[in-house]
Amino acid sequence: MTRVELQSVGKRYPARGRTGTEAIAVDDVTLEVAPGEIHAVIGFSGAGKSTLLRLVNGLERATSGRVLIDGEDITAYSESQLRAVRSRIGMIFQQFNLFHSKTVARNVEYPLIVAGIPRSEREARVHELLNFVGLADHTNFHIEQLSGGQKQRVGIARALATNPGLLLADEATSALDPDTSREVLELLSRVNRELGITILLITHEMDVVREIAHRVTVMDGGRSVEQGDVFEVFSNPQAPTTQSFVSSALPSKPNPEHLRALREKHRGKLVSLTFRDGSVDQPIVFQTLADRGVGVNIVYGGISDVGGRTFGKLTLELIGDELQVEHAIAALGQQTELEVLA
Ligand code: ADP
Repeated sequence: MTRVELQSVGKRYPARGRTGTEAIAVDDVTLEVAPGEIHAVIGFSGAGKSTLLRLVNGLERATSGRVLIDGEDITAYSESQLRAVRSRIGMIFQQFNLFHSKTVARNVEYPLIVAGIPRSEREARVHELLNFVGLADHTNFHIEQLSGGQKQRVGIARALATNPGLLLADEATSALDPDTSREVLELLSRVNRELGITILLITHEMDVVREIAHRVTVMDGGRSVEQGDVFEVFSNPQAPTTQSFVSSALPSKPNPEHLRALREKHRGKLVSLTFRDGSVDQPIVFQTLADRGVGVNIVYGGISDVGGRTFGKLTLELIGDELQVEHAIAALGQQTELEVLA
């Protein structure tokens, strides 16, 4: 289990050509990945995610701040010192980066050869790794005979070969269809849970974060704009970038255009309720409405799972006598987060 710390890390690329301007890829980012944690860095294209990942394994050098791996400051390490650090870090990629001319077993064996592990130990280790990722019966297949999901499983087995304490994942499921993506994410969860490996992953997909990450950093323009526990961040997003990811992937309240369309169809009062893990239950809400003789239509939204916890927003049309509806809204407002949609 590895701890990663970035302390006010910056990465600037010098201007290219006479009219070029300096590129600030990572701007004063402070971030800690605790041992055994799955930490996701999410952001749109160009936010600085890949640069950040490459700073962690020393493929890029910080131009300011410090990078620490298990408390060891690697910021000013020489190339040979960095190679030793990298041998404790596994990495997987969006395009898998496998040797197409080699079999599954030879791909997984490769890092063991580089690490100088004797042949007698290599076969058993390859077998063990392929078992773990569910590819024991594909040992002698060539890479082009595999599906995308199977290729990423080989990538994961190869990344784990030398027993790293940290796995870096660079858009590891972005090239896969949703079902396959889910299977690979489940495997990464097992890597974390069963082998105790810390995972730092970068992604532009909300679902990846929602499904497996414990903590998240949201990046925009090279900066970390929001950080924290996945459920806390996504159930109550503060930064506009976070809000934009949330609205694309989680139940939300209707935007002005949707609201106009809803008003055409529904004459009752429209309210938006937020349901959070541990807050008020739906049966209580509906009982409160029924007790006051108020009818209800669910017209928008849904309930979802974020970091293993329930989160949802439902827009309801409340139907009934105006005064009863007002009383029901007042009662619900005491119990839960409610917004009357103007
Ligand atoms: P992301 O992974 O979030 O898409 P990147 O880390 O690839 O973002 O890039 C962040 C910013 O840094 C971008 O504006 C990109 O153009 C710039 N950048 C990345 N690498 C280089 C480089 N080698 N030289 C100059 N600019 C770079």
